[in-house]
Amino acid sequence: MREYLSAVFGNRESRLALGKSIEEGRLSHAILIEGAEGSGKSTLAKELAMASLCEHRTDPSYPLPCRRCRACHLVEENLTPDVHVLSRGDKATIGVEAVREVRADAMLSATEFDQRFYIFQDAESMTVQAQNALLKVMEEPPTEIKILLLTTSADAMLTTVRSRARLVRMQRFSPGEIAAYLKEKAPALLNAAPASATDTETLLTAAQGSIGSALALLSPQSREAVAKKRAEVLSVIQALSTRTYTPILNAIGNLPTKRDELSDALLLLHTALRDLVLLKRTDDPPMTFFPSPDAVPSTMRDISLVALLAVVKATEEALEEIEKNANVTTVQALFGSRLREAQKVR
Ligand SMILES: [Zn+2]
Repeated sequence: MREYLSAVFGNRESRLALGKSIEEGRLSHAILIEGAEGSGKSTLAKELAMASLCEHRTDPSYPLPCRRCRACHLVEENLTPDVHVLSRGDKATIGVEAVREVRADAMLSATEFDQRFYIFQDAESMTVQAQNALLKVMEEPPTEIKILLLTTSADAMLTTVRSRARLVRMQRFSPGEIAAYLKEKAPALLNAAPASATDTETLLTAAQGSIGSALALLSPQSREAVAKKRAEVLSVIQALSTRTYTPILNAIGNLPTKRDELSDALLLLHTALRDLVLLKRTDDPPMTFFPSPDAVPSTMRDISLVALLAVVKATEEALEEIEKNANVTTVQALFGSRLREAQKVR
């Protein structure tokens, strides 16, 4: 069996389908690649370009891409003008000028290869105007061009763009699959001191299915930061299992006071609460915050469903208030009194 797009980890079905399309010369003109940060979108985009330009693309005795021919080499080393990567750089959005340049460039006759690739990173940050301009390019491809749109959320793109592009969703991996990958590619990172086995497992869970996030989370600095954030969240939940107000006040006092950091902490709390709510409903739910049901302390398991739901609501309200620019101290005070109410529910 021929090997397709093997620089991408996992994603077997997508790799096979896309590889076959390239082999048969019928890869879509526009592809929307959706996946979390670090899920391999850029790697896949580069593989698609390399495979499409590979001199051995129709020869099944070679892997696709072959990684040996001149074309593969040029793409690998970013040496060909026929593969463009566009990003927003330090700007907030990708504006219409960027797409106009693509359009002008696409009008020029092909240089070295018979196809030209435009890879847009953070495609969701394209302005509506830019997306509309892109549609024109997609509708009347001047030469053989391929547009690859990389995004964390396909829903954030215009419907008209979505409907003209083939959608590829990157796979989310289980903590076990990520561990297997890291064991092979980055064993030192996986075994790094000082974390215990449980800590590593927790971090792999916190990566939420993304290998890139796992790599970032496992770095020593980040291990510490993650541990601190998780401890803050756990202390809020722990406080709920007591009957007094002081632990709640202490836990809230330990939450970050910067707006965006507080918002991150509340989002993390929300994922932990979601795990606890799911645990009330089934024995072995898919967990996001805790590595496994066994990792949940019994005091937390004892918090009633009604109380948990009240805290979920309080957390969502606090997040909304932050969103609406409410004063952080006020948000924390309100959150505290709502938690106090939730604590009384048994
Ligand atoms: Zn090749």
